[in-house]
Amino acid sequence: MKKIIIVGAGASGVFLALNLKNKDNEIILLEKNDTPLKKLSMTGNGRCNYYNDDQNIKHYHSESLNELNYLLKEKDIKRCLELFNELGIYPRIINGYYYPYSNNAKTIRNTLIEELNKKNIKLKLNYEVNNIKKKDNKFIINNDLTSDYLVISTGSKCMVNDYIMYDILKEMKIDIIKPLPGLTKLVVDNKYLNKLNGIRTLCKASIIVNDEVIKEEEGELQLTNYGLSGIVIFNLSRYASINLEKNNNVKVKINFLHTIQNIEEIFVKNNNIKSALNRILDEKLVNVLLKDLKNLNYNELTKEEKNELFKILTEYEFIVTGIKDFNNCQVSVGGVSLNEVDLKSLESLKISNLYFTGEILDVDGDCGGYNLTFAWLSALIVSRSIRRKNDKSK
Ligand SMILES: Cc1cc2nc3c(=O)[nH]c(=O)nc-3n(C[C@H](O)[C@H](O)[C@H](O)COP(=O)(O)OP(=O)(O)OC[C@H]3O[C@@H](n4cnc5c(N)ncnc54)[C@H](O)[C@@H]3O)c2cc1C
Repeated sequence: MKKIIIVGAGASGVFLALNLKNKDNEIILLEKNDTPLKKLSMTGNGRCNYYNDDQNIKHYHSESLNELNYLLKEKDIKRCLELFNELGIYPRIINGYYYPYSNNAKTIRNTLIEELNKKNIKLKLNYEVNNIKKKDNKFIINNDLTSDYLVISTGSKCMVNDYIMYDILKEMKIDIIKPLPGLTKLVVDNKYLNKLNGIRTLCKASIIVNDEVIKEEEGELQLTNYGLSGIVIFNLSRYASINLEKNNNVKVKINFLHTIQNIEEIFVKNNNIKSALNRILDEKLVNVLLKDLKNLNYNELTKEEKNELFKILTEYEFIVTGIKDFNNCQVSVGGVSLNEVDLKSLESLKISNLYFTGEILDVDGDCGGYNLTFAWLSALIVSRSIRRKNDKSK
């Protein structure tokens, strides 16, 4: 009977164990926490956004884009959703975003744990893997356990203290693309942040690197006393992370009136600029936007002054000076390079029978269920591959 060790009882490790377990194998899940699927309970603000109907590949990112495109097969992604349906997890779908019907992440967590128990999958908790060796075709873990197959499903250092798997893998000569915080908040330089703190507004946000627009997002922006937050910012933050690391100039430009076709019309109806804008935007925000405007009578502005006003309203710039760190992010950008793995199986090209799933790989997704979907998808690919190998060796 083949022995398979999965390191990490998080989303991808547990999903892998459930899909892989049969009478011909023994699976042991090793988890450093005192409980499995700890992070899953926190996902989606405690609601767990586990899938999205919009599976356009533009929502997934990696340094190795061709390899990523190869991995994201529509049929496989849909199969992940089917597997959730087969587990009896009934979705509550809001604008294409999938949550458990209970609207509570614990429903998914409890279901997966119940299934682990049903299948008699061994789970060793409070067990941190800090040493991996390979000898005579067997993996030796912490000089304690041995296995025929080893799967690294340890996620990333995002919201984890003392993450050691990157160092272990580097010692095994696996190429790691420097992990950086993703889906995080941005620290900006703006003298009015205290006045803006607490404002939420819909907008179009663009990230600008060395004066070039890299990506645009529409949605809710949250202004805080250190900078920018909200889903639009989370989705842009990977570009800030990567480019600040390269010492590039990073700015975020906000269009506060992105759905208004003709801005001039606002002031035709109401000539007092402040009064007109107060009927459209948050009053505290209007106060800051108009801080340097001397004349509030629209009709009296010169053409240049009008253009300046439009620019403030539609191209307000924040200089990004930093990002919130790994303790404040939702995913990591970077990880095990996709060039390190056979894309059909996610098996290491350097060490046979060593596999990777989930966030440890250099793949990150937008907000909207894409990171969990990649956790399920990568687990599905690995489960199929190990099962095939086992069948062949019978
Ligand atoms: C606050 C928050 C909200 C999120 N919301 C969403 C959402 O709604 N939708 C979405 O798609 N994604 C969301 N994500 C991202 C998503 O949770 C992760 O991308 C996903 O859990 C990654 O799965 P994984 O299996 O790779 O890693 P994880 O789920 O992180 O599991 C890795 C496991 O490995 C264990 N481990 C690590 N090192 C070792 C070691 N050396 N030895 C033993 N065990 C080890 C860890 O303790 C952990 O249990 C969110 C993330 C956060 C932080």
